[in-house]
Amino acid sequence: MIFHVLTIFPDFFRGPLDHGVVARAIEAGLLEVRCHNLRNWTYDRHRSVDDRPFGGGEGMVLKPRPVFEAVESVLPGRDQQRHRVVLLSAQGRPFHQTAARRLCRYQELVLICGRYEGVDERVAGHLADEELSIGDYVLSGGELAAAVVIDSISRLIPGVLGNEASTLAESFSEDSLDCPHYTRPAEFRGWKIPPALAGGDHRAIREWRRMAAREKTARLRPELLAIEETGNEQRVIDEGGRTE
Ligand code: SAM
Repeated sequence: MIFHVLTIFPDFFRGPLDHGVVARAIEAGLLEVRCHNLRNWTYDRHRSVDDRPFGGGEGMVLKPRPVFEAVESVLPGRDQQRHRVVLLSAQGRPFHQTAARRLCRYQELVLICGRYEGVDERVAGHLADEELSIGDYVLSGGELAAAVVIDSISRLIPGVLGNEASTLAESFSEDSLDCPHYTRPAEFRGWKIPPALAGGDHRAIREWRRMAAREKTARLRPELLAIEETGNEQRVIDEGGRTE
């Protein structure tokens, strides 16, 4: 899978994607991250990508032209089946695990990172396939959000994790959180591991993990269980996005 990141800070991604699972997947050729500087599609002396907002007000707005031309240049034969263009935006639909699973099926994903007060709305309306938010807070730019999206999708690409089954047992795979994990020592500062995990009874271990995951979900994220009970509303929302 190829991730194209459109940004005014291409060097931003040197750190976050240079470690662990994602770095190994890039090394193995299972995925590629291509960072494109939006200033490559500017034509003035200052290589400006921003301009003042119509109607006045605070801050600057990312101009449409560099963004449109960047997408047209990195995806010359844009094809709805193989390519997806995502605008990172605080106003977007929430990015959840279901969205990561849906997006990992594309061969190339373009991630548009906004800055300033945001991106000219014609990008959302006429260029991007969908707008995604990584949470209900405002970041200074889309780069951190793009790194989050790349990391979470990468784990789902076949071959990236040594053991495919591990993604099936992770948090959000079945509307619940992952079960708690323990490693040695069996007793640490007086806190012992749950006895079920110490024995070799695999059925008891499975059952303990199922119950513990449910208990933790009920305690920390009860709305996930509520979603399960009301017919996976979240999943329906996540499958949305702009359709042609
Ligand atoms: N004025 C915008 C608003 O109130 O919604 C915030 C713009 S923010 C300072 C600049 C850029 O950061 C946005 O264009 C977007 O690309 C990115 N961004 C900010 N928060 C984000 C979030 N929660 N998820 C994804 N991208 C975000």
